[in-house]
Amino acid sequence: MTSYEIACYYFDQAAERMGLSKNMQTLLLTPEREVKVQVAVERDNGEISTFIGFRIQHNSARGPMKGGLRFHHEVDADEVLALATLMTWKTAIVNIPYGGAKGGVALNIRELSSGELERVTRKFVDKIHDMIGPDKDIPAPDMGTNAQVMAWIMNQYEKYHGYNPACVTGKPLELHGADGREEATGRGVVTLTVEFLKRMKQEIRGTSVAIQGFGNVGSHMARFLDELGAKIVGVTDALGGVWNPDGLDIPGLLLYAKDHGGVKGFPDAEPITNQELLAAEVDVLIPAALGGVLTAENAGDVRAKYIIEAANNPTDPQADEIFEKRGITILPDVLANSGGVTVSYFEWVQNRQHFKWELSRVRQELDRILVDSLEKVWQIAEDKKVSLRVAAYLLGIGRVGRATVLGGI
Ligand code: NAD
Repeated sequence: MTSYEIACYYFDQAAERMGLSKNMQTLLLTPEREVKVQVAVERDNGEISTFIGFRIQHNSARGPMKGGLRFHHEVDADEVLALATLMTWKTAIVNIPYGGAKGGVALNIRELSSGELERVTRKFVDKIHDMIGPDKDIPAPDMGTNAQVMAWIMNQYEKYHGYNPACVTGKPLELHGADGREEATGRGVVTLTVEFLKRMKQEIRGTSVAIQGFGNVGSHMARFLDELGAKIVGVTDALGGVWNPDGLDIPGLLLYAKDHGGVKGFPDAEPITNQELLAAEVDVLIPAALGGVLTAENAGDVRAKYIIEAANNPTDPQADEIFEKRGITILPDVLANSGGVTVSYFEWVQNRQHFKWELSRVRQELDRILVDSLEKVWQIAEDKKVSLRVAAYLLGIGRVGRATVLGGI
């Protein structure tokens, strides 16, 4: 199944339960605009490289569209559309006034210098600046992009449209960024994990956790989980992994990964592969890297009690069914990783009001929104006797559907 087929499968599951008409289903699934552009740049050695960039705007019924920008060699139109669709439901589930979009450029960040990445980013903005903006579509960081890339986007956008920091979120603190944005997705995952475990009558302290991915999301998540006393026994990234059944030294691992570009080779731990990590006997498994990592092939091997989807689209539908049959409960991506877009919303609000919030206020508002959203999703799951994923989709699709009808077609 492709990423978009997976996104449609989960949509269909909920849409059928809602009794949504076929015409309404088609309307809600069809993206508003899909753009594919050439991004040609001069390399440091004088040669020319041509990359392909995408921006897909899925739905604006509830407000300007919002979604990350991914730099990764596997980016393609299908994946970007799937992720744009997820953003529409995600912003609706946490009830922030946005629609959904996503973008990406197909490139390997390891093969480009910082100057080359800057030229790619600016060229991409040259191609799409008239379709993005604070009232239209607001990009943010995703895999392979960071605050520096967001600063380049803002600077290039402003060359065309004048001062407008709200045109992108996830910016550096020195350049209109929001306190707490960088940590937000990871922190949100942890807030939701704690609430989820409470409902499962399990304490976070002492809970064993395995994490795939140690980038923005994975590393902040590990830090907060460690502070709360969870036992992180395994971590993997693109280059390798480490395992310690007594719990990894997370502050040490964070420093090591910074210095060595990954977790591989961290002392006082055994090496572990990605597949071994996914099959580890732990309380909680958290995929926080790529999509499509839990499939029919490996779902039977998973021994975790719970899966928290920090990554987007990590579980394909066949794996989802296997987990349901095996009684492995999943906290779905559309809710689990929504802390990032929620604090992006706070950044946008602050930029538009020219008023900066304290970190404590950002964290407090974030926790409130996430805990409320989990409560609503949980209630729907109990009332309708459905999985948390179907419940989250019922909530999100319902809100987008009602906004569409109220606005008029
Ligand atoms: P990142 O680029 O900062 O980190 C990605 C991590 O995944 C790195 O540690 C990398 O080594 C690892 N990785 C890459 N390929 C891998 C592979 N084949 N096997 C194992 N590990 C691999 O990205 P991020 O921002 O942390 O995003 C991670 C996930 O979270 C993505 O699915 C993204 O869509 C999702 N997400 C991110 C945000 C955000 O605010 N950054 C918000 C919502 C969802």
